[in-house]
Amino acid sequence: MVGVDIVGAGPAGLATALEIVQRNTREQVWWLNQAMPCAVTVYDEKEKIGEPQRCAGGVGLWMAGRVGFEPPPNTIVANVRRVTIYAPNGKYWEMKGMNYGYVLDRTKLEQIWAEQVQNLGGLIIQKRIVKEDIACSVHVGNVVVGADGPNSVVRQFLTQQDYLYLQNKQLQPLGQDMHIGVQKTIMMDYYPQDLIEVYFGEKVAPKGYAWIFPCGNGMVRIGLGVPVELGSQAGALLERFIARHVVEYEAKCSIAKQIPTARMPKKGVYGNVVLVGDALPATDPLTGGGICQAIMTGKAAAEAIVYGDLECYDSLIAWLRKENHRRYRMKTVICSLKDQDFNDLIETMRSFHLKSSSIGKELRRGVVHLIRKKPRLIGKFFKAL
Ligand SMILES: Cc1cc2nc3c(=O)[nH]c(=O)nc-3n(C[C@H](O)[C@H](O)[C@H](O)COP(=O)(O)OP(=O)(O)OC[C@H]3O[C@@H](n4cnc5c(N)ncnc54)[C@H](O)[C@@H]3O)c2cc1C
Repeated sequence: MVGVDIVGAGPAGLATALEIVQRNTREQVWWLNQAMPCAVTVYDEKEKIGEPQRCAGGVGLWMAGRVGFEPPPNTIVANVRRVTIYAPNGKYWEMKGMNYGYVLDRTKLEQIWAEQVQNLGGLIIQKRIVKEDIACSVHVGNVVVGADGPNSVVRQFLTQQDYLYLQNKQLQPLGQDMHIGVQKTIMMDYYPQDLIEVYFGEKVAPKGYAWIFPCGNGMVRIGLGVPVELGSQAGALLERFIARHVVEYEAKCSIAKQIPTARMPKKGVYGNVVLVGDALPATDPLTGGGICQAIMTGKAAAEAIVYGDLECYDSLIAWLRKENHRRYRMKTVICSLKDQDFNDLIETMRSFHLKSSSIGKELRRGVVHLIRKKPRLIGKFFKAL
């Protein structure tokens, strides 16, 4: 029996645990192969699984399909059929006519998954902050899954320990490639429940963007992300952004959390330690979205664990890494754009022929298109890369 200690019961940790316990049951019953039985324990510092939801909950249909994620219908609080992107000058580009994705009640999703994990024999230990004691699990030979988000203690353990040298591997600190996301859940009953709005501009969210996501019953999640070095301004920027939309409000929930916008490292496995989700980090550096990436890396880690071949994890997530690196380059370009460039970009996109329902992909195509149409941006593009 392989001992698997998963640190973190967010989407990455729970997806890992669920996939392992499901494979444990399915594959032993049918004698399909030599999948190894695993004893799964998930640790989380939170008192209640999924609470508070530190996320806007938006999931693009394109990415969800790519990673094979189908949320239970009762966890979907809004279906997104329109996406409007605003330039600093107030002009906008509207994508409509397709299903672009949905907004999730992540708390409900995580609670459903946690219950399923427990029903299938996994153990979930709450109110447990994992610290240096992680080393014990590693040294007794358990597989340790770092699913503990952007400030991962498991990742810190790896970067500080001689352990990495023993594995002959390197793991770079995330450095400045981190944004701060701040968000409030407020009533905005006039806001259409099928619309997502995204705002760019130096005065709105420098080197980031602001958003409004519907989340049912006339409520919205309104927030923004800026690089960590501008983190001290994030709260004031959000208040100013909210004031553009409502006169007064009472927040049902207010959150602030880091969002990794870094390049995914070459390796996600270090001896018997595997990093998944934001701890890796697998988050999309261009949009800051990380739910699907957390689920995908979690499932891949589970597959590698049950087949006793941890090293295959890196090849299972190779396509995601490639996509991540491409999006990282685009993030660098987007962060280097000035307000006038965004105004030009949105103007260009208005006459742009869409090819997919993926907002990230279309934005990337738009930037390339813009650079072609406005060669003055080529220098900026190369400088950014
Ligand atoms: C404001 C904001 C809005 C966002 N909006 C979106 C969005 O719309 N769409 C999208 O796809 N992504 C979004 N993201 C990103 C998304 O939330 C993350 O990418 C995703 O949550 C990553 O999942 P994870 O399981 O890797 O980490 P997390 O969700 O961070 O889960 C980590 C878990 O580990 C636990 N933990 C941490 N440290 C310890 C410890 N030492 N001991 C025990 N437990 C520990 C935590 O309690 C937590 O439950 C947003 C992020 C922010 C901040």
